[in-house]
Amino acid sequence: MAIEDGTIVSVEKAGKASGKYRAEEVIDATGKIVMPGLICAHHHLYSTFARGMAVPGEPAKNFVEILEKLWWRLDNALTKEDIYYSSLIPLIECVRNGTTTIIDHHESQSFQKGSLDEIARAVKEVGIRASLCLGTSDRYGKGEAGLEENERFLSLLNSRPSQLVKGMVGLHAAFTVNDDTLDKSVRLAKKFGVGVHVHCAEDKADQDESLKKYNLRVIERLNSHGVLGEKSIAVHCVHVDEKEIDILKATGTNVVHNPESNMNNAVGCADVLEMMEKGIEVGLGTDGMSSDMLSQMRCAYLIHRHVKKDPRVAFLEAPTMLLNKNPKIVKRVAGWRVGEIAKGALADIILIDYQPPTTLNENNFLGHLIFGLVDATVDTTICNGKILMRGKKLVGLDEESIAQKASQLASELWKRF
Ligand SMILES: [Zn+2]
Repeated sequence: MAIEDGTIVSVEKAGKASGKYRAEEVIDATGKIVMPGLICAHHHLYSTFARGMAVPGEPAKNFVEILEKLWWRLDNALTKEDIYYSSLIPLIECVRNGTTTIIDHHESQSFQKGSLDEIARAVKEVGIRASLCLGTSDRYGKGEAGLEENERFLSLLNSRPSQLVKGMVGLHAAFTVNDDTLDKSVRLAKKFGVGVHVHCAEDKADQDESLKKYNLRVIERLNSHGVLGEKSIAVHCVHVDEKEIDILKATGTNVVHNPESNMNNAVGCADVLEMMEKGIEVGLGTDGMSSDMLSQMRCAYLIHRHVKKDPRVAFLEAPTMLLNKNPKIVKRVAGWRVGEIAKGALADIILIDYQPPTTLNENNFLGHLIFGLVDATVDTTICNGKILMRGKKLVGLDEESIAQKASQLASELWKRF
């Protein structure tokens, strides 16, 4: 494979290379699997400081309490510096896990204006790709400021385009945004030619609220305001009915499945196999739980077999979400051609240590992926043609001092929490 200026310019069979290219630097991939960099289609970089935190009071007994007791308090305590360091840590973990593109969904009610700049700064320093947005919410009456930050950031990207950073319009979730905010978010998305990134029907509470307040189900309501479409992302869709699935299909909306998070929050399992069968583009995300896409893929593989009590399902679908659908969604929302090793694709490549203990060929790759590669170690991560990690060592980043600073900031945040 030859890479030039961040793009793959040639791919030839091993041992049969034409010798046309003289490289400044050659990487020998002997004993390694070469794959396109992985993609996380829904992440929350800001969730870092919750790791290991003792949440005061009685344990949350449902999804809404998890938001109220943990996430909404966390995102109402973040400072500018917290946002930057919260981002650096999982971005480094992306590099370690071979994740070279993320679609992030940020929340910081305490510090909205300029928040996306802090994340973009961290993204550029680490060197992976990210589509960013701020999850606008009216829960504390700060919806207008949330939209302003999305607009400010999208304008900035228009005037100063970046190879690594793109933007979307973010909404927290249907149940925390009013109709006025929905309409304004759609106008904003149209103005910049981007989609809306929003949590949908993650828990039944979202549907209950929507029916009570608007007499419409979540997807019906979002659709009636024009939120859905091929550039928009409906995250979770755990509690959607047949009619809503048909709307997602008709509008070409991307759905992102986050099985580990859904299990962690005990909200149920989205029937994404049915959605895929209907032709909906279903991708895979971590929802901030981790930056490890191979383990998320295996979780998707396991949960659907478990829930359906059918060992014939998900063997194809789980890898398809990660390896085929995520690149398609990224192309739609950010315009990047990633997730493939082919001439003309962006040079986002990973090398994984793997000595196949059984035959590995083009017919049984998925078996090796689900049962072998998922536990293998990423050795080298390249994004946009730049080597970010080599021999399991990060290039140009002092991981230890970043972790120390993050830990110090997290301790201060825990005291304020
Ligand atoms: Zn999320």
